[in-house]
Amino acid sequence: MKNMNYSNLWDAVEKAERIGISGHARPDGDCIGSCLGLVNYIADNYGKKADLYIDEIPASFTFLKGSEDIISGYPDAPKYDLFILLDCGDLERTADAAKYFKAADYTFCIDHHATNKGYADVDIIDGDSAATAELLCSIMDADKISLDTANCLYLGIVHDTGVFKHSNTRRQTMELAGMLLEKGVNAGNIIDKTFYEKTYVQNQILGRTLMESILLMDGKIIASYVSLDVQKLYGISNSDMEGIVDQLRVTKGIEVAILLKEVNKREWKVSLRSNNIVDVSLVAVKFAGGGHVRAAGCTLHGSVYDVLNSLTREIEKQMVE
Ligand code: AMP
Ligand code: MN
Ligand code: MN
Repeated sequence: MKNMNYSNLWDAVEKAERIGISGHARPDGDCIGSCLGLVNYIADNYGKKADLYIDEIPASFTFLKGSEDIISGYPDAPKYDLFILLDCGDLERTADAAKYFKAADYTFCIDHHATNKGYADVDIIDGDSAATAELLCSIMDADKISLDTANCLYLGIVHDTGVFKHSNTRRQTMELAGMLLEKGVNAGNIIDKTFYEKTYVQNQILGRTLMESILLMDGKIIASYVSLDVQKLYGISNSDMEGIVDQLRVTKGIEVAILLKEVNKREWKVSLRSNNIVDVSLVAVKFAGGGHVRAAGCTLHGSVYDVLNSLTREIEKQMVE
């Protein structure tokens, strides 16, 4: 862990009057689970209501306590004594929460991206944690974790480990998840309803994207894309595309899966996954992104052809070494 001095997080929470929390843009399960887990833990143990800024939350997550109080749209707000950013590899990934962070008196970053260089007054970064929710859980006092907090943290761990199956899953991941189960978490329900269950339109977009995928580098790379036009046609948002790249990754013989999601005209949010050899975080970092060895992301501009060309050139370097 980069900064072991996390005990003062709880001192800072104790002292602060105004606390703000946020995560990365286009948040995933780990980001939302970590943020809401921390909001609940602070409410339960310190009697304080932290402001949570998140730009979109899937409908299947709204059973999590505190989700009803999430602030969207990043409105102006008085400065915070304490601002905590979770699951956010660098300050550029916050959508617009960086403005609260920069204005705050004291800041913490709690994150598990190996590519995170640190940007807060106190950085609690551990690239070996499978999820930010795992790291956060490990610095909480287990006796003070309520069922509401446990639900959030469990959801975060489930999502970043692909239900305990990705290579980031380690003994501590399972042990902390076991502790959360003992709080009364309904694991089957969380896993089915928030991870596996897909709406009809989510399945349609999954099927369409798989059908349009192409193989590159003698079948070692699989790539596909979802254009703005297609997103509009199906009326889908970012979270509707969760899981597509993971399905691409489990294609037989594949080392790297690439999914391009168009976020603005000719601007692509790239998702990268690998199986055994390629460190996709190195590829992402080349294009000012980041992430983990087996799951990373970045943003690139141009045609699908240009973007795939740039990415495969970098991937190829690692495959021939
Ligand atoms: P995704 O493909 O969006 O699910 O992201 C895979 C992993 O890489 C997640 O842990 C993300 O937080 C991380 N990641 C994605 N995009 C970026 C980026 N631009 N900078 C840093 N980390 C990223
Ligand atoms: Mn995340
Ligand atoms: Mn994460």
